[in-house]
Amino acid sequence: MSIVTSRRQSVPRTLPAESGQSWQQAMRHAVREPAELCRLLKLPGELAAQAARAMGDFPLFVPRGYLSRMRPGDPTDPLLRQVLPTTAETEPAAGFTADPVGDTAATASPGLLHKYQGRVLLVTTGACAVHCRYCFRRHYPYSQSPKAAADWQPALDEIAADPTIHEVILSGGDPWTLADATLGELTRRIAAIEHVVRLRIHTRLPIFIPQRVTAGLLAGLTATRLTPIVVLHANHAAELDDAVAAALARLRAAGVLLLNQAVLLAGVNDTADAQQALAERLIALGVLPYYLHQLDRVSGAAHFEVPPATGRAIIAELRRRLPGYAVARYVHEVAGAEHKENLM
Ligand SMILES: *Cc1c(COP(=O)(O)O)cnc(C)c1O
Ligand code: SF4
Repeated sequence: MSIVTSRRQSVPRTLPAESGQSWQQAMRHAVREPAELCRLLKLPGELAAQAARAMGDFPLFVPRGYLSRMRPGDPTDPLLRQVLPTTAETEPAAGFTADPVGDTAATASPGLLHKYQGRVLLVTTGACAVHCRYCFRRHYPYSQSPKAAADWQPALDEIAADPTIHEVILSGGDPWTLADATLGELTRRIAAIEHVVRLRIHTRLPIFIPQRVTAGLLAGLTATRLTPIVVLHANHAAELDDAVAAALARLRAAGVLLLNQAVLLAGVNDTADAQQALAERLIALGVLPYYLHQLDRVSGAAHFEVPPATGRAIIAELRRRLPGYAVARYVHEVAGAEHKENLM
Protein backbone atom coordinates (compact mmCIF):
# COMPACT_ATOMS: atom_id res chain seq x y z
CA MET A 1 0.00 0.00 0.00
CA SER A 2 2.78 2.39 0.88
CA ILE A 3 4.43 1.58 -2.45
CA VAL A 4 1.26 2.54 -4.34
CA THR A 5 1.02 5.77 -2.41
CA SER A 6 4.60 6.80 -3.06
CA ARG A 7 4.27 5.91 -6.75
CA ARG A 8 1.23 8.12 -7.02
CA GLN A 9 3.11 10.95 -5.42
CA SER A 10 6.10 10.56 -7.71
CA VAL A 11 3.89 10.91 -10.82
CA PRO A 12 1.76 14.01 -10.21
CA ARG A 13 -1.26 14.04 -12.47
CA THR A 14 -2.07 17.67 -13.13
CA LEU A 15 -3.75 17.01 -16.48
CA PRO A 16 -6.62 14.64 -17.22
CA ALA A 17 -5.66 11.51 -19.15
CA GLU A 18 -6.56 11.58 -22.82
CA SER A 19 -6.03 8.05 -24.01
CA GLY A 20 -9.09 6.09 -25.00
CA GLN A 21 -11.21 9.12 -25.86
CA SER A 22 -12.81 9.22 -29.28
CA TRP A 23 -12.27 12.39 -31.28
CA GLN A 24 -15.90 13.35 -30.75
CA GLN A 25 -15.44 13.01 -26.99
CA ALA A 26 -12.27 15.09 -27.19
CA MET A 27 -14.28 17.82 -28.97
CA ARG A 28 -17.10 17.66 -26.42
CA HIS A 29 -14.77 17.71 -23.45
CA ALA A 30 -12.53 20.50 -24.71
CA VAL A 31 -11.69 23.21 -22.16
CA ARG A 32 -13.99 26.23 -22.58
CA GLU A 33 -13.57 27.94 -19.21
CA PRO A 34 -10.51 30.17 -18.78
CA ALA A 35 -10.57 29.42 -15.05
CA GLU A 36 -10.26 25.69 -15.72
CA LEU A 37 -7.48 26.21 -18.24
CA CYS A 38 -5.47 28.28 -15.75
CA ARG A 39 -6.09 25.80 -12.95
CA LEU A 40 -4.92 22.84 -15.08
CA LEU A 41 -1.80 24.73 -16.18
CA LYS A 42 -1.07 26.22 -12.74
CA LEU A 43 -1.38 29.77 -14.04
CA PRO A 44 -2.45 32.82 -12.01
CA GLY A 45 -6.20 33.34 -11.73
CA GLU A 46 -5.76 36.90 -12.98
CA LEU A 47 -5.00 35.52 -16.47
CA ALA A 48 -8.30 33.64 -16.40
CA ALA A 49 -10.20 36.77 -15.36
CA GLN A 50 -8.57 38.70 -18.22
CA ALA A 51 -9.39 35.96 -20.70
CA ALA A 52 -13.02 35.86 -19.63
CA ARG A 53 -13.31 39.61 -20.18
CA ALA A 54 -11.47 39.59 -23.52
CA MET A 55 -12.83 36.62 -25.43
CA GLY A 56 -16.12 38.19 -26.54
CA ASP A 57 -17.96 36.21 -29.23
CA PHE A 58 -14.89 34.04 -30.04
CA PRO A 59 -14.69 31.98 -26.84
CA LEU A 60 -11.85 29.90 -25.49
CA PHE A 61 -11.82 26.37 -26.95
CA VAL A 62 -8.89 23.97 -26.44
CA PRO A 63 -8.86 20.15 -26.55
CA ARG A 64 -7.31 18.70 -23.38
CA GLY A 65 -4.66 16.67 -25.20
CA TYR A 66 -3.06 19.89 -26.42
CA LEU A 67 -2.59 21.12 -22.82
CA SER A 68 -0.21 18.27 -22.06
CA ARG A 69 2.25 19.71 -24.61
CA MET A 70 2.46 23.04 -22.76
CA ARG A 71 4.82 23.93 -19.91
CA PRO A 72 2.72 24.22 -16.72
CA GLY A 73 3.13 27.53 -14.89
CA ASP A 74 4.56 29.37 -17.92
CA PRO A 75 2.32 32.20 -19.11
CA THR A 76 4.66 32.76 -22.10
CA ASP A 77 4.36 29.20 -23.42
CA PRO A 78 4.13 29.43 -27.25
CA LEU A 79 1.27 26.93 -27.42
CA LEU A 80 -0.68 28.68 -24.68
CA ARG A 81 -0.28 32.02 -26.42
CA GLN A 82 -2.13 30.71 -29.49
CA VAL A 83 -5.26 29.80 -27.53
CA LEU A 84 -5.58 31.93 -24.37
CA PRO A 85 -7.54 35.19 -24.88
CA THR A 86 -5.84 38.31 -23.56
CA THR A 87 -6.94 41.91 -23.14
CA ALA A 88 -4.74 42.83 -26.13
CA GLU A 89 -7.56 41.40 -28.30
CA THR A 90 -9.90 44.17 -27.22
CA GLU A 91 -7.55 47.01 -28.11
CA PRO A 92 -8.38 48.62 -31.47
CA ALA A 93 -5.48 48.79 -33.97
CA ALA A 94 -5.31 50.85 -37.15
CA GLY A 95 -5.47 48.73 -40.30
CA PHE A 96 -6.90 45.64 -38.58
CA THR A 97 -10.39 44.81 -39.85
CA ALA A 98 -13.07 42.10 -39.73
CA ASP A 99 -12.49 40.72 -43.29
CA PRO A 100 -8.79 41.39 -44.07
CA VAL A 101 -8.48 38.99 -47.04
CA GLY A 102 -11.63 39.96 -48.93
CA ASP A 103 -13.50 36.68 -48.39
CA THR A 104 -16.85 38.41 -48.53
CA ALA A 105 -16.11 39.85 -51.99
CA ALA A 106 -14.86 36.48 -53.32
CA THR A 107 -17.90 34.49 -52.18
CA ALA A 108 -19.72 33.13 -55.25
CA SER A 109 -22.23 30.50 -54.14
CA PRO A 110 -22.73 30.14 -50.37
CA GLY A 111 -19.53 28.72 -48.88
CA LEU A 112 -17.57 28.81 -52.18
CA LEU A 113 -14.53 31.10 -52.49
CA HIS A 114 -13.16 31.38 -56.02
CA LYS A 115 -10.17 33.72 -55.83
CA TYR A 116 -7.45 31.85 -57.72
CA GLN A 117 -7.29 30.13 -61.12
CA GLY A 118 -7.89 26.41 -61.21
CA ARG A 119 -8.79 25.95 -57.57
CA VAL A 120 -11.75 26.80 -55.39
CA LEU A 121 -12.09 26.82 -51.65
CA LEU A 122 -15.20 25.37 -50.06
CA VAL A 123 -16.01 26.61 -46.54
CA THR A 124 -17.53 23.40 -45.22
CA THR A 125 -18.26 24.29 -41.61
CA GLY A 126 -17.65 27.01 -39.06
CA ALA A 127 -16.55 24.54 -36.40
CA CYS A 128 -12.91 24.06 -35.41
CA ALA A 129 -11.05 21.78 -33.00
CA VAL A 130 -9.50 24.85 -31.39
CA HIS A 131 -10.02 28.60 -31.38
CA CYS A 132 -6.79 30.25 -32.53
CA ARG A 133 -6.69 33.78 -31.23
CA TYR A 134 -5.09 35.13 -34.43
CA CYS A 135 -7.58 33.46 -36.79
CA PHE A 136 -8.38 35.59 -39.84
CA ARG A 137 -11.84 34.01 -40.05
CA ARG A 138 -12.74 34.78 -36.44
CA HIS A 139 -15.34 37.25 -37.71
CA TYR A 140 -16.42 35.26 -40.83
CA PRO A 141 -20.21 35.03 -41.29
CA TYR A 142 -20.34 31.23 -40.91
CA SER A 143 -24.09 31.21 -40.36
CA GLN A 144 -24.38 31.83 -44.14
CA SER A 145 -22.29 28.75 -44.98
CA PRO A 146 -23.85 25.38 -45.89
CA LYS A 147 -24.42 23.02 -42.95
CA ALA A 148 -25.77 19.83 -44.52
CA ALA A 149 -24.49 17.89 -47.52
CA ALA A 150 -27.53 18.94 -49.60
CA ASP A 151 -26.72 22.63 -49.02
CA TRP A 152 -23.51 22.21 -51.06
CA GLN A 153 -25.42 21.65 -54.32
CA PRO A 154 -25.20 25.28 -55.56
CA ALA A 155 -21.42 25.27 -54.96
CA LEU A 156 -21.01 21.85 -56.62
CA ASP A 157 -23.12 23.00 -59.59
CA GLU A 158 -20.86 26.00 -60.00
CA ILE A 159 -17.71 23.83 -59.89
CA ALA A 160 -19.28 21.43 -62.42
CA ALA A 161 -20.06 24.33 -64.76
CA ASP A 162 -16.45 25.61 -64.79
CA PRO A 163 -14.01 23.21 -66.52
CA THR A 164 -11.03 25.36 -65.47
CA ILE A 165 -11.40 24.15 -61.86
CA HIS A 166 -9.06 21.19 -61.22
CA GLU A 167 -8.73 21.31 -57.46
CA VAL A 168 -11.24 21.65 -54.66
CA ILE A 169 -9.97 22.75 -51.26
CA LEU A 170 -12.08 21.89 -48.24
CA SER A 171 -11.57 24.53 -45.60
CA GLY A 172 -13.58 26.14 -42.84
CA GLY A 173 -13.53 26.30 -39.95
CA ASP A 174 -12.10 22.80 -40.06
CA PRO A 175 -13.59 20.28 -42.50
CA TRP A 176 -12.46 17.34 -40.38
CA THR A 177 -14.90 18.35 -37.63
CA LEU A 178 -17.53 16.91 -40.00
CA ALA A 179 -18.58 13.27 -39.65
CA ASP A 180 -16.85 10.63 -41.79
CA ALA A 181 -20.11 9.89 -43.64
CA THR A 182 -20.64 13.57 -44.53
CA LEU A 183 -17.04 13.92 -45.73
CA GLY A 184 -17.26 10.70 -47.70
CA GLU A 185 -20.42 11.85 -49.45
CA LEU A 186 -18.98 15.26 -50.25
CA THR A 187 -15.79 13.64 -51.60
CA ARG A 188 -17.81 11.31 -53.85
CA ARG A 189 -19.87 14.20 -55.20
CA ILE A 190 -16.72 16.20 -55.96
CA ALA A 191 -15.13 13.15 -57.62
CA ALA A 192 -18.20 12.90 -59.86
CA ILE A 193 -17.14 16.20 -61.49
CA GLU A 194 -14.77 15.00 -64.21
CA HIS A 195 -12.49 18.03 -64.50
CA VAL A 196 -11.65 18.02 -60.77
CA VAL A 197 -8.54 15.90 -60.18
CA ARG A 198 -7.27 16.93 -56.73
CA LEU A 199 -8.90 17.21 -53.33
CA ARG A 200 -7.11 19.31 -50.76
CA ILE A 201 -8.02 19.46 -47.07
CA HIS A 202 -6.91 22.34 -44.82
CA THR A 203 -7.08 21.05 -41.26
CA ARG A 204 -5.65 21.43 -37.76
CA LEU A 205 -7.45 18.34 -36.42
CA PRO A 206 -4.47 15.92 -36.69
CA ILE A 207 -2.49 18.39 -34.56
CA PHE A 208 -5.12 19.16 -31.94
CA ILE A 209 -7.03 15.85 -31.80
CA PRO A 210 -4.79 13.25 -33.48
CA GLN A 211 -7.30 10.45 -32.85
CA ARG A 212 -9.41 12.15 -35.54
CA VAL A 213 -7.33 10.27 -38.13
CA THR A 214 -9.51 7.16 -38.06
CA ALA A 215 -9.71 4.27 -40.50
CA GLY A 216 -13.09 5.62 -41.63
CA LEU A 217 -11.67 9.06 -42.37
CA LEU A 218 -8.80 7.57 -44.37
CA ALA A 219 -11.12 5.26 -46.29
CA GLY A 220 -13.36 8.15 -47.36
CA LEU A 221 -10.38 10.32 -48.26
CA THR A 222 -8.74 7.72 -50.50
CA ALA A 223 -11.82 6.00 -51.96
CA THR A 224 -12.08 8.11 -55.13
CA ARG A 225 -9.83 8.84 -58.12
CA LEU A 226 -8.98 12.29 -56.62
CA THR A 227 -5.39 12.86 -55.45
CA PRO A 228 -5.68 13.57 -51.70
CA ILE A 229 -3.54 16.36 -50.28
CA VAL A 230 -3.68 17.39 -46.63
CA VAL A 231 -2.34 20.77 -45.56
CA LEU A 232 -1.80 20.79 -41.81
CA HIS A 233 -1.41 23.87 -39.67
CA ALA A 234 1.27 23.57 -37.00
CA ASN A 235 3.11 26.63 -35.73
CA HIS A 236 5.58 25.18 -33.24
CA ALA A 237 7.64 21.99 -32.91
CA ALA A 238 6.21 21.35 -29.43
CA GLU A 239 2.78 20.82 -31.02
CA LEU A 240 4.06 17.71 -32.78
CA ASP A 241 4.15 15.08 -30.02
CA ASP A 242 4.12 11.28 -30.37
CA ALA A 243 0.35 11.02 -30.76
CA VAL A 244 0.47 13.55 -33.61
CA ALA A 245 3.40 11.68 -35.16
CA ALA A 246 1.35 8.47 -35.13
CA ALA A 247 -1.62 10.20 -36.78
CA LEU A 248 0.62 11.61 -39.51
CA ALA A 249 2.15 8.17 -40.05
CA ARG A 250 -1.37 6.78 -40.65
CA LEU A 251 -2.02 9.50 -43.23
CA ARG A 252 1.25 8.81 -45.00
CA ALA A 253 0.66 5.07 -45.01
CA ALA A 254 -2.65 5.78 -46.78
CA GLY A 255 -0.74 7.60 -49.52
CA VAL A 256 -1.74 11.14 -48.61
CA LEU A 257 0.60 13.99 -49.56
CA LEU A 258 1.27 16.03 -46.40
CA LEU A 259 2.13 19.74 -46.31
CA ASN A 260 2.14 22.27 -43.48
CA GLN A 261 1.22 25.90 -43.30
CA ALA A 262 2.22 28.04 -40.35
CA VAL A 263 1.49 31.62 -39.41
CA LEU A 264 4.36 33.84 -38.30
CA LEU A 265 3.31 34.87 -34.79
CA ALA A 266 4.98 37.19 -32.30
CA GLY A 267 5.91 35.34 -29.12
CA VAL A 268 5.15 31.95 -30.71
CA ASN A 269 7.53 31.23 -33.59
CA ASP A 270 9.19 34.53 -34.55
CA THR A 271 12.79 33.35 -34.32
CA ALA A 272 15.01 31.38 -36.72
CA ASP A 273 15.53 28.76 -33.98
CA ALA A 274 11.79 28.19 -33.54
CA GLN A 275 11.21 27.98 -37.30
CA GLN A 276 14.17 25.64 -37.76
CA ALA A 277 12.91 23.31 -35.01
CA LEU A 278 9.43 23.31 -36.59
CA ALA A 279 10.78 22.58 -40.07
CA GLU A 280 13.05 19.77 -38.89
CA ARG A 281 10.30 18.13 -36.83
CA LEU A 282 7.91 18.35 -39.81
CA ILE A 283 10.44 16.80 -42.19
CA ALA A 284 11.16 14.03 -39.67
CA LEU A 285 7.43 13.23 -39.75
CA GLY A 286 7.23 13.30 -43.55
CA VAL A 287 5.57 16.71 -43.88
CA LEU A 288 6.89 19.42 -46.22
CA PRO A 289 6.75 23.01 -44.93
CA TYR A 290 4.55 24.72 -47.55
CA TYR A 291 3.65 28.24 -46.46
CA LEU A 292 4.76 30.59 -43.71
CA HIS A 293 2.00 33.18 -43.67
CA GLN A 294 2.40 36.79 -42.76
CA LEU A 295 -0.44 37.47 -40.30
CA ASP A 296 -3.68 38.64 -41.88
CA ARG A 297 -4.65 41.90 -40.25
CA VAL A 298 -7.83 40.79 -38.54
CA SER A 299 -9.13 42.93 -35.70
CA GLY A 300 -8.09 41.56 -32.30
CA ALA A 301 -4.81 40.04 -33.55
CA ALA A 302 -2.50 43.06 -33.79
CA HIS A 303 -0.36 41.82 -30.89
CA PHE A 304 0.61 38.76 -32.98
CA GLU A 305 2.00 40.76 -35.90
CA VAL A 306 5.68 40.36 -36.83
CA PRO A 307 7.24 43.00 -39.12
CA PRO A 308 7.92 41.58 -42.63
CA ALA A 309 11.59 42.63 -42.25
CA THR A 310 11.87 40.21 -39.31
CA GLY A 311 10.14 37.50 -41.32
CA ARG A 312 12.56 38.00 -44.21
CA ALA A 313 15.56 37.84 -41.90
CA ILE A 314 14.25 34.55 -40.43
CA ILE A 315 13.78 33.04 -43.91
CA ALA A 316 17.27 34.17 -44.97
CA GLU A 317 18.71 32.43 -41.92
CA LEU A 318 16.67 29.27 -42.57
CA ARG A 319 18.02 29.10 -46.12
CA ARG A 320 21.53 29.02 -44.65
CA ARG A 321 20.68 26.36 -42.10
CA LEU A 322 18.31 23.99 -43.92
CA PRO A 323 17.91 22.16 -47.23
CA GLY A 324 15.79 24.08 -49.70
CA TYR A 325 12.80 21.74 -49.43
CA ALA A 326 12.57 22.44 -45.68
CA VAL A 327 12.15 26.20 -46.07
CA ALA A 328 8.53 27.34 -46.36
CA ARG A 329 7.45 30.00 -48.86
CA TYR A 330 6.91 33.23 -46.93
CA VAL A 331 3.65 34.66 -48.27
CA HIS A 332 0.88 37.10 -47.64
CA GLU A 333 -2.66 37.10 -48.91
CA VAL A 334 -3.68 40.29 -50.66
CA ALA A 335 -7.36 40.96 -51.29
CA GLY A 336 -8.07 40.86 -55.03
CA ALA A 337 -4.63 39.46 -56.05
CA GLU A 338 -4.31 36.45 -58.42
CA HIS A 339 -2.24 34.37 -55.99
CA LYS A 340 -0.67 34.75 -52.58
CA GLU A 341 2.05 37.35 -52.67
CA ASN A 342 5.64 36.23 -52.06
CA LEU A 343 7.25 38.30 -49.35
CA MET A 344 10.66 36.86 -50.22
C1 LIG B 1 -4.69 30.21 -50.09
C2 LIG B 1 -5.94 30.04 -50.83
C3 LIG B 1 -6.07 29.08 -51.85
C4 LIG B 1 -4.96 28.13 -52.20
O1 LIG B 1 -3.85 28.80 -52.67
P1 LIG B 1 -2.53 27.95 -52.97
O2 LIG B 1 -1.54 28.99 -53.28
O3 LIG B 1 -2.87 27.05 -54.10
O4 LIG B 1 -2.24 27.16 -51.74
C5 LIG B 1 -7.24 29.00 -52.54
N1 LIG B 1 -8.28 29.82 -52.27
C6 LIG B 1 -8.21 30.74 -51.31
C7 LIG B 1 -9.38 31.61 -51.07
C8 LIG B 1 -7.05 30.87 -50.55
O5 LIG B 1 -6.99 31.80 -49.59
S1 SF4 C 1 -8.23 26.03 -36.85
FE1 SF4 C 1 -7.93 27.48 -38.57
S2 SF4 C 1 -10.00 28.30 -38.99
FE2 SF4 C 1 -10.07 27.33 -36.95
S3 SF4 C 1 -9.64 28.99 -35.49
FE3 SF4 C 1 -7.66 28.02 -35.97
S4 SF4 C 1 -6.81 29.22 -37.68
FE4 SF4 C 1 -9.02 29.69 -37.53
